[in-house]
Amino acid sequence: MTTAPELAPATALPRDLVDRLIARAVAGGAPSVPVFAPATGAKIADLPQSSTADIDSAFATARAAQREWAAVPVRERAAVLRRFHDLVLAEQDTVLDIVQTEAGKSRVHAFDEVGDVAVNARYYAATAERLLATRTPRGVLPMLTQVEVHNRPKGVVAVISPWNYPLALAASDALPALLAGNAVVARPDNQTALTALWAIDAAERAGLPAGLWQAVLGRGAAIGGEVIARADYVDYTGSSATGRTIAQQAGRRLIGYSLELGGKNPLLVLADADVRTAARIAVRACFASAGQLCESIERIYVHDHVYNRFVDEFVAATKAVRLGSALDYSYEMGSLTFARQLDTVTAHVEDAVAKGATVLAGGRARPDLGPYFYEPTVLAGVRPGMTVYREETFGPVVSVYRVHSDDEAVEQANDTAYGLNASVWSRDTARARAIAARIDAGSVNVNEGFIAAWGSVAAPSGGLGISGSGRRHGPEGLLKYVDTQTVAVQRALPIAPLPGMSEALWAKTMTLYFGVMKALRQK
Ligand code: NAD
Repeated sequence: MTTAPELAPATALPRDLVDRLIARAVAGGAPSVPVFAPATGAKIADLPQSSTADIDSAFATARAAQREWAAVPVRERAAVLRRFHDLVLAEQDTVLDIVQTEAGKSRVHAFDEVGDVAVNARYYAATAERLLATRTPRGVLPMLTQVEVHNRPKGVVAVISPWNYPLALAASDALPALLAGNAVVARPDNQTALTALWAIDAAERAGLPAGLWQAVLGRGAAIGGEVIARADYVDYTGSSATGRTIAQQAGRRLIGYSLELGGKNPLLVLADADVRTAARIAVRACFASAGQLCESIERIYVHDHVYNRFVDEFVAATKAVRLGSALDYSYEMGSLTFARQLDTVTAHVEDAVAKGATVLAGGRARPDLGPYFYEPTVLAGVRPGMTVYREETFGPVVSVYRVHSDDEAVEQANDTAYGLNASVWSRDTARARAIAARIDAGSVNVNEGFIAAWGSVAAPSGGLGISGSGRRHGPEGLLKYVDTQTVAVQRALPIAPLPGMSEALWAKTMTLYFGVMKALRQK
C-alpha cells in the first residue's frame, strides 16, 4: 500500500481565490475535510461540507431561481453561454492552474477540459433555440386536430461529477441543463470542488442569474442519496459500481438519469494501418490524465503483420513521455490523483508481472517526482486470469496483444462487459468503418484515439453495457433535460360519430379513412 508523504506547507493557488470560491458552495453545516494537491502533497484547503440543511437550502434556492429562468427566452439563455465560452477561454490560465493543482494532471490534459467546455458552450448556444422550439406534428385528423409539442424543463438537475475531468464533467453537462431552462445543483468531488466552483463563479459573471447553479459538497456515499432524493433528474459520471447505486436511487423515485461510467477501451491496429501515426496518437489516447479517463485506451490489438513495427514505435513514444507537475506546458503527463489510484495501478501491474506478463515500458512508481506519479506503462503477454486483462485500471497502463485477423481483433475487442469507446486504425476507411459497425461501443474513432468522437459534440456520446446509459453531447445531451408536453387542439368536429350517426357507420368511415391515409403513404 502507498501512504501519503509528509505534507508540503503551501499551495500554488492564491489564498483569496480559494476563499472566494469556497464561499460559493452551499456548505459549512458539516465538518470540513482537508484537500491536498496530488502532485506535491501540499494542502489546498479545508473544504467545508454540506449538511442536510445545506442541501435543502441549495435546492430551495435553485427551485426559486429556476421558476424565473424558465420564463427567459432561450435566445437570452444562449447569450449567457456565449459569454461563458469567452470567459473560460480568456481566463484559462486561472482555471488551468486550479485543475492541475486539484487533479494533478499535466497542463496539456487540463487544456483538453477548457476546449471541451468551449465547444459544448458554443454548440448548445448555437442549436438550443431550434432544438427546444415547439414542434407541430400532424394530428390524428389533419386540419381538424392541431398538435403542439412543447419542451418543459425538468426542474432541478443534479450533476454528480468525479475528480478526473473536473472542469469538463462539472460544466459540460450543466450547460445544456441550464440552457433547457433548469436549475442545477452540482455535487463535485471534494478533491476537485474548486474547479466546479470556479465554473459557477464564471457562469454568474457571464450573466447566469444567481442561485441557478448551486454546489453542495460532500463524499458521494455521504450526500449522494440526499441530492438524488431532491432532484428531478440526475447526471452521474463515475464508476459502474456507483452507477448502479445511482440508478437504483433514481429508479425508486422514478426520475430520469444519465450515467457515464467506466471503460476498458480497445484500439485496433489493422494490417494496413499508418503505424507511426497510430503509435503517436495511441500514446495520447492511453495516457491522457495519466489514464484516468473513462474513454482512454487500455487494450491494443495489433495485426501480426505490423506488430513489431507498431510496438517498437509505441514503446519508444511511451518512454519519451515527459512526467512532471509544473503549472505550464513543459510536461506531457502528470500525477495520478489519489493514493488509491496508485495502489490500483501498482496492484494491476504487479499481478500481471507475477503471472508472466512483460513490462515493455514504465512499470514503476516515481515518488521522486511526487507522491502518486507512475510511469506510462506498456505490458505484453497479458492473458485471461490477470486482473488487468478484464478490469479497468483507470491509470497509465495498456496491454498490447498480437492478433492474426480482423475477425480475431473484433472478437477480442468485444470480449468485455464495457462498451464506451474504441479506436480502429487502417488506411482503408471503408474497411475501418465496417469494423466499427461490429464493435460494441458507444463511440468508435477511426484513425484517432478518442478525441475525434468526444470532441465532435454535435454527435451523442455514451456507453453500452456497463459503461453507462443515456447520452451527453448532441441533441440527446440537451433533450434529456426536458419533458415533452403534447397539446392537441381539436377544431370544428370532435373525434366521434356525428350526431345521429351509428357507432357501426363511424367505424366503417374511419376504416375507409385509415385505408386512404395508408394508400397516400401519409405518416
Ligand atoms: P467512484 O465511483 O467511487 O467515485 C466516482 C465519483 O462518484 C466520486 O466523485 C464519488 O464521490 C462519487 N460517488 C461515490 N459513491 C456515490 C454515491 N453513492 N452517490 C453519489 N456519488 C457517489 O469511483 P472512484 O473510486 O473515485 O474512481 C475509480 C473508478 O471510478 C475507476 O475505476 C473508473 O471506473 C471510475 N470513474 C470513471 C469516471 C468517468 O469519467 N467515467 C470518472 C471517475 C471515476
